[in-house]
Amino acid sequence: MVLTKVTERIYFLENDKETDRPLLGYVKGDKYSLMVDAGNSRNHVEKFNDSIEKSNLRLPDYVAITHWHWDHTYGMNAVTGKTIACEITNERLKVMSKWQWTEEAMSKRLLTGEDIEFADINIRKEYKVLQDIKVIPADIVFKNDLEINLGGLVVILKNVIAPHSEDSVIVYVPEEKVVFIGDAYSIDFYDNYKYDSVKLQNFIKMLESLEFDTCFLGHSSPLKKTEIIECLKSEYKKISTNNDGKKISK
Ligand SMILES: [Zn+2]
Repeated sequence: MVLTKVTERIYFLENDKETDRPLLGYVKGDKYSLMVDAGNSRNHVEKFNDSIEKSNLRLPDYVAITHWHWDHTYGMNAVTGKTIACEITNERLKVMSKWQWTEEAMSKRLLTGEDIEFADINIRKEYKVLQDIKVIPADIVFKNDLEINLGGLVVILKNVIAPHSEDSVIVYVPEEKVVFIGDAYSIDFYDNYKYDSVKLQNFIKMLESLEFDTCFLGHSSPLKKTEIIECLKSEYKKISTNNDGKKISK
């Protein structure tokens, strides 16, 4: 899999449904570069770094995390750059860093709802040896938002209200008119697959107010601003008419 170039400063490695690997972003400043999300394992990070080197780019100096879910964070121990997460994400990382990866502990977490079957299935597919899983907290932690100057290019990390998780962080690059939204657009897998209409409406409004051309999503192809807003508005229509606030598909 090769890196896709979007602009002179923006690249991405597409998502891989096989083991639920999310899209990984790359933002190139004059001085530093930033990776968006840490991937789901050391193997995923190695694949990303290989594609970076093949494109003659520098390995990331920073890694911005969009939310705590395993597929976006379990590669944190293998990345080259300093990892950056918002406070809420980091608290979840601290909790997960204490998790045991035995059959007993894993099935117990499914019973208590700490983890979900969808993650459990994909973790087993990604990791041949479950003991290889190593979860660590971030190097840099911020509250609400953070601005990073990569040299001639500013990146803004912002914790936003979104239906997927309360720690949803967007990575916005105003000058390049792109935004990485992780899974913020999606349902909450850890809250009975709920699609919260109020949070979704908030998220749509935030996107509408943001100036960008392209939006990068965690588990599907990039969309234009009009496409993502259209798509989310139609989802909003469905859940507000059904009024049960639930949706099964991703
Ligand atoms: Zn997620």
